[in-house]
Amino acid sequence: MLVLGNGSVITRDAACPLIENGAVAIDKTTICKVGRTEEIRSAYPQSEYIDAEGGLIMPAFINAHEHIYSSFARGLSITGYDPKGFLDILDGMWWTIDRNLTLHDTYLSAMATYIDCIRNGVTTIFDHHASFGSIEGSLFEIEKAAKETGVRSCLCYEISDRDGTDKARESVMENAEFIRHALKDDTGMIAGMMGMHAQFTISDETFELAAANKPEEAGYHIHVAEGIEDLHHCLKNHGKRIVDRLMDHGILGEKTLLGHCIYINPHEMDLIKETDTMVVHNPESNMGNACGCPPTMELVHRGILTGLGTDGYTHDMMESFKVANVLHKHHLCDPNAAWSEVPQMLFENNAKIAARYFKRELGVLKEGASGDVIIVDYDPLTPLNKNNINGHLVFGITGRDVVTTVANGEVLMKDRRLTKVDVEKVMADCRQAAEALAGRINSR
Ligand SMILES: [Zn+2]
Repeated sequence: MLVLGNGSVITRDAACPLIENGAVAIDKTTICKVGRTEEIRSAYPQSEYIDAEGGLIMPAFINAHEHIYSSFARGLSITGYDPKGFLDILDGMWWTIDRNLTLHDTYLSAMATYIDCIRNGVTTIFDHHASFGSIEGSLFEIEKAAKETGVRSCLCYEISDRDGTDKARESVMENAEFIRHALKDDTGMIAGMMGMHAQFTISDETFELAAANKPEEAGYHIHVAEGIEDLHHCLKNHGKRIVDRLMDHGILGEKTLLGHCIYINPHEMDLIKETDTMVVHNPESNMGNACGCPPTMELVHRGILTGLGTDGYTHDMMESFKVANVLHKHHLCDPNAAWSEVPQMLFENNAKIAARYFKRELGVLKEGASGDVIIVDYDPLTPLNKNNINGHLVFGITGRDVVTTVANGEVLMKDRRLTKVDVEKVMADCRQAAEALAGRINSR
């Protein structure tokens, strides 16, 4: 039994959103009681106790779109890299990295990402992986890191014809094998999807191969209309828009997650809504790649299940929250935009997206939900009440204010120290592997 107490508990449970001087009790992997600290402590006097010291106690964050494989891009200088647009960024940076990753690089990239997730209070991620230099077994390397660090993960490999049909086939098989493996896992900490890069690097034959090998329990995780080039390619080569092409290949559905959706029209939004397909918005990445601003507010208003991710740009969901908040105000020239939609995406919709892959209830502190809880160091300078919680968060905290992270009832970080991982050793190993990777890339 574990109790986290003496904090302002933000439950994300509409019945009782905020508990002053509250506590959460976790029995093994599951929350068994939420209430006032004195009440919980007297109910479980023998339990391990973590004191929030007056900070916030909240559900841990969920990241609906990650890229573990991008870890070693930090500080990397690629000879001749001088992108003029989104396709140059893909080919010159991301595909260049992924083609040169070894299985051990993938494992270390995952360890580094998971460490940063834990530090930012993220305990569940949807990752989208590529390592065309070593495809087979790559998702299993990531799973190994997920289990070592304790972060819940839904994994997939991005199928693409960009390196030829043999590698496309190999990536289909990697997904299929991992999905079948994950379906047999009973820990509730691992899931799999059929990953796809984006329609402009996938032939009709490869779409069909993926469909033929996909276990029916899983859906697809694919980038959609991230760049205008993706749309132009689809119109020119297939005579239809992107979401129509996905519809024709049976890609849409309630288990499928579409990344970005920047260049989609109202007809495509109708298809996404009618098929109950999920969308994930990655504001910082869209801005950084100069890709444009997606019609995310409209998607939310239409009732499309739209979540929030980071696209590997950061592992801090509060950073994504802050950027989405200002991006849509700026883009729509409307200072009232995004106040309610972005927190809805981060706190409600990401939990609903996770619920389509993990059987446990996530993103809420209430009896029966999974024991995924964080403590945030925060002393409000104005009164905190149930109506202004999100305002305090967006202007008052960052991911690095998280001091304690608990996932599935297991303490992964306490007082900013990771409990399961030798962080210094992992970082030293990462630096060595990143240096070797840079050497391989620049000696091509
Ligand atoms: Zn992405």
